[in-house]
Amino acid sequence: MIFEYKLSAPREDFYDITNEVQLAVVASGVTDGVAIVFCPHTTAGITINENADPDVVYDFLIGIDKAFPDRKEFKHEEGNSAAHLKASTVGASETIIISKGKLLLGTWQSVYFCEFDPPRERKFMVKIIQ
Ligand code: ZN
Repeated sequence: MIFEYKLSAPREDFYDITNEVQLAVVASGVTDGVAIVFCPHTTAGITINENADPDVVYDFLIGIDKAFPDRKEFKHEEGNSAAHLKASTVGASETIIISKGKLLLGTWQSVYFCEFDPPRERKFMVKIIQ
C-alpha cells in the first residue's frame, strides 16, 4: 500500500509530516509493521528529529548551511548544488516501526520533510508494510 501526499514548501524549512504518516498507518489497517517515508526529489529529503523545541530545526538549518554553503566553483547550471548536497546528507527516506497501529517514535521525535530549494510544490510517499 502506497499513500501519496502533496506539500507546499514556500521556504527552506523542516515541515512536520508525522500526522500524514500516522494517517497512512490508520488507513492501511496495519497494526504491526513498518512505514517507509520517501521523498522523490533531489533537493529535499526526509529526516526524524526533535519537535519539542523549534530552535532545534532553526539551528539545524544554520548548521547545514554552514556545512554546505553556495560556492562559486560549483558547475551545476541550475545553481542549486548546495540544496543537492543538503538533500543527500539528510537522505531521501526514513523507516519507522509500527506497533499497535501507531508509529513507534520517541517522545520528542517527529518526521520531517526537509525543503532545501524553495519555493516548491512537493510530494512524498508513505509505504506501509505488514
Ligand atoms: Zn539542480
